[in-house]
Amino acid sequence: MSEKKESLNFIEQIIEEDIANGKHAGRVHTRFPPEPNGYLHIGHAKSIVLNFGLGKKYNGMTNLRFDDTNPTTEETEYVNSIKEDIKWLGFEWDEELYTSDYFEQLYQFAVKLIKKGKAYVDDSSSEEMAALKGTPTKPGVASPYRDRTVEENLDLFARMKAGEFEDGSRILRAKIDMSSSNMLMRDPLMYRIKHQHHHRTGDDWCIYPIYDFAHGQSDSIEEITHSICTLEFENHRPLYNWFIKELEIFPSRQIEFARLNLTYTMMSKRKLLQLVQENIVEGWDDPRMPTISGLRRRGYTALSIRNFAERIGVAKRENLIDVGLLEFSVREDLNQSTDRVMAVLDPLKVVITNYPEGKTEDLIIENNPNSEEKVTRIVPFSREIYIEREDFMEDAPKKFFRMSQGRNTRLKGAYILHCDDVVKDDKGEIVEVHCTYYPESKSGQDTSGVKAKGVLHWVSIPHAIDAEVRLYDRLFTVENPLHDQDIDFRDYINPDSLSVIKNAKLEPSLQNMLPGNRYQFMRKGYFCVDKNSKSDQLIVNRTVTLRDSWGKKK
Ligand code: ATP
Ligand code: MG
Repeated sequence: MSEKKESLNFIEQIIEEDIANGKHAGRVHTRFPPEPNGYLHIGHAKSIVLNFGLGKKYNGMTNLRFDDTNPTTEETEYVNSIKEDIKWLGFEWDEELYTSDYFEQLYQFAVKLIKKGKAYVDDSSSEEMAALKGTPTKPGVASPYRDRTVEENLDLFARMKAGEFEDGSRILRAKIDMSSSNMLMRDPLMYRIKHQHHHRTGDDWCIYPIYDFAHGQSDSIEEITHSICTLEFENHRPLYNWFIKELEIFPSRQIEFARLNLTYTMMSKRKLLQLVQENIVEGWDDPRMPTISGLRRRGYTALSIRNFAERIGVAKRENLIDVGLLEFSVREDLNQSTDRVMAVLDPLKVVITNYPEGKTEDLIIENNPNSEEKVTRIVPFSREIYIEREDFMEDAPKKFFRMSQGRNTRLKGAYILHCDDVVKDDKGEIVEVHCTYYPESKSGQDTSGVKAKGVLHWVSIPHAIDAEVRLYDRLFTVENPLHDQDIDFRDYINPDSLSVIKNAKLEPSLQNMLPGNRYQFMRKGYFCVDKNSKSDQLIVNRTVTLRDSWGKKK
């Protein structure tokens, strides 16, 4: 084992090379830079695991930086949810920082570029600018304002800041190269006018820096050594480096990796917000959402999400990960950590005709066969029980190893029953099944010699407690709801993504379960108690089925 050299991903290779070359004295400092314009999703979890993981691995630091340069979309609610989700995932940031805290510094950086003749104020409208921008194969044309003097630019920029001009009437641009093959280098925007209240700086500012003139500069201010972002910023890297060079600031290094895409869902905060605003889901933490808070409410553990992120690794090319892999990760964890309990989701009444009326037996059942400690609980058994309707079949084929007339079936932790008879209503629907039990067949001390094939879960009727059970399916009917820009992703919403069972029957040990508690309901899947569950109105969410049954259903 110790012989085997751990293989490094391409980002770790870059970092180890930098360390070996003594760059930044071997220091590693990463950051996670969310824009507070929505709740974090599983794609962000990948970035969090990566950035915080690298900080930890190389004894470095990781900042949490809110990239709050757009006052229109940002809210304090999002800031708080982001902090909560990162903590829940099991990470701690070294510093909590805000790009908006650098507004003055960024303004000074801009002034410096103006003074160097590397930035200018442009009065063109966005249409005029677009017309002059050229195409990837056709060079752009210089704006008529490109050759303004430094003095004039300084004056106009100061007046932009002072609030003299209307939104959109002027912008500050970097003066780079209107014929660059990289369109982003054709005098990119740096500052725009926006008379808008900001969640932290209030009305102090009416000009706001563009992403490209905020992100990299914030990295430098914080002396971030490795600034990891997603692939769509690859062609921003020359600009990132140009600003560093011209401003003569700390040389942070931008590294791009492929963003996480997952099947049957989507990873855009803006589009997820649309689902929330249009009430297609119940909120950001709807258990069908790919958000961290949705997954948490669904019953996902932080460990399972971290394991998933590690498992998919970092890639240099875009790909689409099967959501089955995420489900595998949570099953793997819950299989170890949850108690097995019994719940009947679609109850059918069974009467054990030779069992004494009014008698209750306390059966002792082990909670988790995977656990080191052998913890048990008491489950009451009586003459009348519920089984799952789908576990009974009147005329069953030979291979049906559940309950059917004339055959024997074992009840988990209890006895073997022989099924004798059914009672039907006037519509021919089975309302009751009559069985006899073998008193000598009690689990663990069976001397009956009777054979039974299947083992069923059950709940004693007089002891059963009611609960609402919510079953979830994929939110979208297609693997990639955003595959075609001409098709509205809402056309792919799965109308059956939620089904609610109002009166499921649970074993009485679950009476005191609390929001967030997780269980395996035997043969039915892993479940988590919903945040709105109360002792007199229990609600549980199915996290995932025990096996991947979805492929078959298709
Ligand atoms: P969205 O389009 O969902 O709003 P974003 O990239 O605009 O995503 P940010 O808040 O800017 O969201 O992202 C914070 C960090 O998380 C960035 O470094 C970004 O690269 C990373 N990130 C966002 N989405 C993903 C994803 N799907 N996979 C991996 N990393 C991601
Ligand atoms: Mg963004």
